[in-house]
Amino acid sequence: MSKKTQDIWSYAPAPESSKVVQIKEKYDLYIDGKFVKPSSGKYFKSFNPADEKEICSIAYGNEKDVDLAVKAARKAYNTVWSKLSSAERGKYIFRIARMMQERSRELAVAESIDSGKTIRESRDIDIPLACNHFFYYAGWADKLEEAFPGRKPKSLGVAGQIIPWNFPLLMAAWKIAPALATGNTVVIKPAETTSLTMMILAEIIHEAGLPAGVFNVVSGYGDTGAAIVNHPDVNKIAFTGSTAVGKIIQKALAGTDKKLTLELGGKSANIVFDDAPIDQAVEGIVNGIFFNQGHVCCAGSRLFVQENIAEKVIEKLKFRMASLIVGDPLDKNTDIGAINSKEQFETIQKYLKIGKDEGSEMYQSPCKLPKKGNYMAPTLFMNVAQSNIIAQEEIFGPVLTIQTFRTIDEVIQKANNSPFGLAAGVWSDKGSKVFNVTSQLRAGVVWANTYNKFDPAAPFGGYKESGFGREGGLHGLIPYLKFD
Ligand code: ADP
Repeated sequence: MSKKTQDIWSYAPAPESSKVVQIKEKYDLYIDGKFVKPSSGKYFKSFNPADEKEICSIAYGNEKDVDLAVKAARKAYNTVWSKLSSAERGKYIFRIARMMQERSRELAVAESIDSGKTIRESRDIDIPLACNHFFYYAGWADKLEEAFPGRKPKSLGVAGQIIPWNFPLLMAAWKIAPALATGNTVVIKPAETTSLTMMILAEIIHEAGLPAGVFNVVSGYGDTGAAIVNHPDVNKIAFTGSTAVGKIIQKALAGTDKKLTLELGGKSANIVFDDAPIDQAVEGIVNGIFFNQGHVCCAGSRLFVQENIAEKVIEKLKFRMASLIVGDPLDKNTDIGAINSKEQFETIQKYLKIGKDEGSEMYQSPCKLPKKGNYMAPTLFMNVAQSNIIAQEEIFGPVLTIQTFRTIDEVIQKANNSPFGLAAGVWSDKGSKVFNVTSQLRAGVVWANTYNKFDPAAPFGGYKESGFGREGGLHGLIPYLKFD
């Protein structure tokens, strides 16, 4: 892209004010309706990935804190929550949804400061969808008999929930809302690099007057999560995170009667046929992998383009990539924010080196990068072989591999040749071709002529090493229920 064309895309800075959120110096655990200090007295620091400045300190919960939280959740389940009418439960969840909505601007800014994601994404996607999940499941609370006619659905008890760092509040909403709607109580742990919005949510839920012990937050690291998983009085574990940790959890729960849902990694295929609307497809490819820094489990990280249009698609894609603005997550014009942590930034760099060593051709957008912070340019790899590590392993960054194909059978085989199966995208003008392909893809969610579209009413979840169980929609109620 010429200098002149690049200038067309330069905007004056338009940052959202960070003053809308009053970040405290320290955040405590939330157990039994009270904000309490961790029993070890330990706190860990949370940093803003955009400028590496310290944001606040977060309580580091241990086994003892988890035990207190589970005991509080059990007591609340036995004495209050399971006794309450389902309509009353629904009212609480509606109240939480409305209060989140009232504080949505604050939540969006906090999410961007804490995670590095763009304000456009947190303001337009994460926070509205999180609120909508509460609204949606509030509606189901008193309709469970209708949802499962003749099956007498019953709550399980205490749900232990572990959240990743890529969609901190949204993933929390995906788990908390159906758990409460089905009559369970909750012990939840945010990811160590992104605890802030969970801490604000605890304040909202406290203000909403949810009975003490129904909702508890124990923040911390992996050992805190393991303490929740291994606590003998937890009835269900819901985990979203890496496949490696998912496997540890599954092993830990083998032989117990705890219910488990796992939403793990992905290496999703985005397939473009030669009859696709190419400009829309290019926009879908960009949306699928580059927005949110590629920190999306279902990111369309493997692009398959029909051979006869590959050159044209790659040219258009490079042109579009050059227009993407990488920078301040709080700026409304920013397309790609900061990589969530230094550790993740280094992991991505390691994969770039692997890709080059494997012989693939790398292209990076010539965009300007801020001098400080974990920023990187959107990256393409061409001449990628199916067996290459960069085409097989989840990178979790703004890195796209491109492969070509000639026939439908070939692309289905290539797309399915992955240990993962979370999502996929298909771009074609022909409806019958779309149905043919989507029905043969081994992926939990398949989008046609769009990508990364979410709705609380639509179930989400994986095949193979992407996990099992569904979140969202009526299906999302099932993991929190037992049936006579
Ligand atoms: P990532 O590698 O993408 O950071 P992880 O799977 O490590 O993803 O983290 C997802 C969540 O799981 C985080 O909240 C993290 O603290 C938690 N976690 C990490 N290790 C364990 C473990 N052994 N048991 C339970 N939770 C864990």
